[in-house]
Amino acid sequence: MNEKTLFEKIYDGEIPAAIVYKDDVCCCFRDIDPQAPVHLLLIPRKPLPSIEQATPDDAALLAHLMLKVGEIAREQGLAKSGFRVVINNGPDAGQAVPHLHLHILGGRSLQWPPG
Ligand code: AMP
Repeated sequence: MNEKTLFEKIYDGEIPAAIVYKDDVCCCFRDIDPQAPVHLLLIPRKPLPSIEQATPDDAALLAHLMLKVGEIAREQGLAKSGFRVVINNGPDAGQAVPHLHLHILGGRSLQWPPG
């Protein structure tokens, strides 16, 4: 069996994290190195390595994640002020953990374009 990814271990409770939301499909926790006052990571339970490797079989999973973004952002008080959702894919984007994750960033004005 393949070694679990860091984020699978967080989902399974084997590595501690500040979890703000969890269900059978995904979980959301605070980034350990926050780049904004609110910096969350939303991950699927399924260890999909990257968004680029998603297939049509993952359509329901991806829809679930997208809907949770809005719910979690509202719950975190980000809906009015605004927030950003980022998926880093591959080396040029600086993807460090090979398990799909959506960064949810907010609580300050965010620059555009990103670096
Ligand atoms: P990326 O560069 O898009 O792959 O983002 C990986 C993110 O995971 C970074 O923002 C890290 O700060 C974050 N991270 C790494 N280890 C942990 C951890 N144990 N708990 C929470 N966040 C983590």
